[in-house]
Amino acid sequence: TRKRLVMGNWKMHGSLAANAKLLDGICAGVAAVHNSDIAVCVPFPYLAQARDNLRGTGVSWGAQDVSVHEQGAYTGEVSAAMLNDFACQWVLVGHSERRSLHAETDEQVAGKALAALKADITPVVCVGETLEEQQSGRTTEVIARQLAPVLALGADRVAGLVLAYEPVWAIGTGLTATPEQAQAVHAFIRGRLAELGAPQVRVLYGGSVKASNAGSLFAMEDIDGALVGGASLVAEEFLRIAAA
Ligand code: 13P
Repeated sequence: TRKRLVMGNWKMHGSLAANAKLLDGICAGVAAVHNSDIAVCVPFPYLAQARDNLRGTGVSWGAQDVSVHEQGAYTGEVSAAMLNDFACQWVLVGHSERRSLHAETDEQVAGKALAALKADITPVVCVGETLEEQQSGRTTEVIARQLAPVLALGADRVAGLVLAYEPVWAIGTGLTATPEQAQAVHAFIRGRLAELGAPQVRVLYGGSVKASNAGSLFAMEDIDGALVGGASLVAEEFLRIAAA
């Protein structure tokens, strides 16, 4: 059985003061959430704050990106070992905003996943098609292409990661995939994982998840949780999603 995971992606939001309030709010309600792991992925400068405020609370934390490189002349990059210094359990890789705004390739994304795995950090590998790709009926083709270099890491490696299906057209748009639409893609991904021999990998859904739609998404057989953007910035809403 795959335990539900509800993960907030704060993106480039927050401040020391706002985060303190948000983290306090999440911690205050977490004891009432039983059926879900809860995590937040925060901007790099706030990793120390997340660690200090979340240690021992049952809420875990992580970063939003990691370098493929171990160290060296890579200005602006952050290594997996550095994330370990802040006790990160998770790191997002291949978020669509990284793929589109920073031209990350499928191979680079797989390389980042491997860098995280080698440091014992669980990568949450994001995949998803654009609106144009969806409308031209290429969703599974795109997902398969994005997954290929990740699955090529092999069953043992893949068993240590989490996948997130985030249709680009549903991110920050208020347009959620219907539970059935999402389930169809999750079932496809689950099939690829089963073929590889890593059937227990959790596959999260992301894209305009809110308390009002989380329950119907989580009712789907192959949806194991959510990657939540905007709604993760309000403690009560985020907790309602985790408890849905
Ligand atoms: P929203 O929940 O704001 O649509 O963002 C989804 C997302 O990109 C999470 O990584």
